[in-house]
Amino acid sequence: MKDELIFLGTGGGRHHIRTQYRATGGFLYKFNEIQAHIDPGPGAIVRINQFDEDPAKTDLFIVTHFHLDHYSDLSAIIESSRKILHDRNYNYFKKGTLITTNQVLKYISEYHLNMVEKIVIFHAGEVMMYKGVNIIGTKIKHSDIEGFGLKFNLSDYTLGYTSDSTVFEGFAEQFNNTDVLILNLLRPDSIVCKKHLCTDQVIPYLNKINPKPATIILTHFGAYMDSPLSKKNFVPSQVEKIKKLTNIKKVIGAYDGLKLKIEKLLK
Ligand SMILES: [Zn+2]
Ligand SMILES: [Zn+2]
Repeated sequence: MKDELIFLGTGGGRHHIRTQYRATGGFLYKFNEIQAHIDPGPGAIVRINQFDEDPAKTDLFIVTHFHLDHYSDLSAIIESSRKILHDRNYNYFKKGTLITTNQVLKYISEYHLNMVEKIVIFHAGEVMMYKGVNIIGTKIKHSDIEGFGLKFNLSDYTLGYTSDSTVFEGFAEQFNNTDVLILNLLRPDSIVCKKHLCTDQVIPYLNKINPKPATIILTHFGAYMDSPLSKKNFVPSQVEKIKKLTNIKKVIGAYDGLKLKIEKLLK
């Protein structure tokens, strides 16, 4: 299995948008020979080149909600997903599928939307079949914004992505039977944020996931977690805390440019 995750950014929120202390490029998910770019925030096109990945290989674009750190580079990513834009008569080539919300679509030009073969407006609770893989929209509670998390049901494993959310009744259960879970963890310990997660808040919910994921990857860290404004880089201590209090064996604190082979995350 060649499936892989590449973190083009592990920062979330306005401080990281401004400073790029942690990048905000989202992540690539390569599965079944498909390259998906999920939540391409500011700098995504820079990071994909910086980390030696090929934007021309992307054929699935996913933006989970209308926040700048998730959608800003979408047009650049769509335009860069092909080496030739049009034929001699300026007939533009169409390529790929875009999965997103109505809100995001309003801010992407017709020019770029016309480059995509298929646009899917997606909601929590919906399921779509994409090249033999079931993609499920999971629920988020993230101010009042429309959006979704994701679950990819492949024949060998299931990958989940919480996107930005705080906890709510049913948050955990939607990730039952997920082998690898990507968790957007904005803040450390008990520093609560209404729209996001902090460690102490999410641990009881992680313990409710049944069966527990083999691997949890923490990402989308805010300024309190790791930045010149934070007392220290809290990521290592949060990894240890989650490991200890959930008994999940593999807890990984992502960093910019991290590449992970899915195969190694399943056991
Ligand atoms: Zn975010
Ligand atoms: Zn957000």
